[in-house]
Amino acid sequence: MSIKPLVAGNWKMNGLKAAVAELEALSAGFDADLAAKVDTMICPPATLVGAFADKTANSAVAIGAQDCHFNVSGAHTGDLSAEMFADAGASAIIVGHSERRADHGESNEIVKAKAEATWAQGLVAIICVGETEGERKSGDTLKVVGSQLAGSVPAGATAANTVIAYEPVWAIGTGLTPTADDVAAVHAFMRDELTKAFGDEGASMRLLYGGSVKASNAVELMGVANVDGALVGGASLKAADFLGILAAY
Ligand code: PEP
Repeated sequence: MSIKPLVAGNWKMNGLKAAVAELEALSAGFDADLAAKVDTMICPPATLVGAFADKTANSAVAIGAQDCHFNVSGAHTGDLSAEMFADAGASAIIVGHSERRADHGESNEIVKAKAEATWAQGLVAIICVGETEGERKSGDTLKVVGSQLAGSVPAGATAANTVIAYEPVWAIGTGLTPTADDVAAVHAFMRDELTKAFGDEGASMRLLYGGSVKASNAVELMGVANVDGALVGGASLKAADFLGILAAY
């Protein structure tokens, strides 16, 4: 089964208005040949989602958000809803990133509710899972990833409404990456679990790898079986670095 890969950039809490220059450079470099082989997306901070979506209206670069509240509206000071991001022009929302799970105490149940809120607006949920260093050292990687998938991915997940990102917490922003064999083992496990849960939809769902992806390791990591693209943090901030990763395709 052929799955079109997705390379998505997560800018986290980085980027001011002037960073639109990087978006423009990415759009210019993401030519039709590349766009035929791979999809791409930038998830800037919430302050830039609307402006970036306007800028890319005629480009193949999609815009996503990094988190949303699970309610549509209401008394939630400082929060933003999936409806607001849809209105601003986003096509996807990252939910359950390990930084949200750790810094904001987000449980699997909350992540699942956020994914459902994302779908309710017709957007794609990019649901993140991944083990900590301690869990890896205890040999619990598959157990943790399996329980995050079971707890965070709602019933009704399809290849069209959901992307899974496997991001080992210890690999995020550290320059460390798992071996290709380790990535293959986790992605094969996720494929099996998702296929058991969602049938053909699970078999064709995009499974991204994330954690210290850069141009120099992208060919190897993107070439691993069941890796259908990447979620990229630091190396997505500069168009030249990000295009270097996209060039793996
Ligand atoms: C991330 O946090 O989603 C990520 C993958 O970060 P980095 O690429 O910087 O490790």
